Amino acid sequence: MNEATGQPYDNMIAGLLIDRLKLSEYWAAKTRMNENSIQGLICPQCGRARAWAYKDKPHSINCNRLNQCGARTKTLTLFPDVIPNVETSHPPTRQDPLQPATFYLKLRGLVKSLKGMDYEYWPDIRKTGSGGVMFPVIRPDGTRIYNGRIFNPPEGAGKTHNRGEARPALFGSIRASLMILLSKPLLPKALLMPIL
Ligand SMILES: [Zn+2]
Repeated sequence: MNEATGQPYDNMIAGLLIDRLKLSEYWAAKTRMNENSIQGLICPQCGRARAWAYKDKPHSINCNRLNQCGARTKTLTLFPDVIPNVETSHPPTRQDPLQPATFYLKLRGLVKSLKGMDYEYWPDIRKTGSGGVMFPVIRPDGTRIYNGRIFNPPEGAGKTHNRGEARPALFGSIRASLMILLSKPLLPKALLMPIL
């Protein structure tokens, strides 16, 4: 549960998005919310009040004018300010050095799967000024690689971050087997050289 609102974390982003939508130009006088959906939203693409969104997961505004428009507009793209900066609101502390990463995962409704999940908080990834949550993965050969998400990537920086690519190792082994081939006089060297 979120201490501030009493809502389960799963619905936290949904609640923030709906509050933001209500204040926006896309919420018209006739926009209505029923049990499952929000109807009569203004489509950001064509401007008609014929769009809708899921109430539990209002991640997109979906235009009902399928033949004329049919746009699906991502709400987080319209309102990037809705998601709090987790490093400011929940900074790392000595008692809880993972706090920003934990809060980021909770915001996204991953609280149930947090138990036993291995993750780390890395500050200032790729010198973007934003930290991120990184998940270690142990490969069968024992090497550790990381896959993760940058919290607030700058425009064009990409959301994902990986460390320890599989490709160089794979290339290394292909190269090694080609070297073995090269050492045997089965194929003319001139044929193989362009591949290496
Ligand atoms: Zn539309």
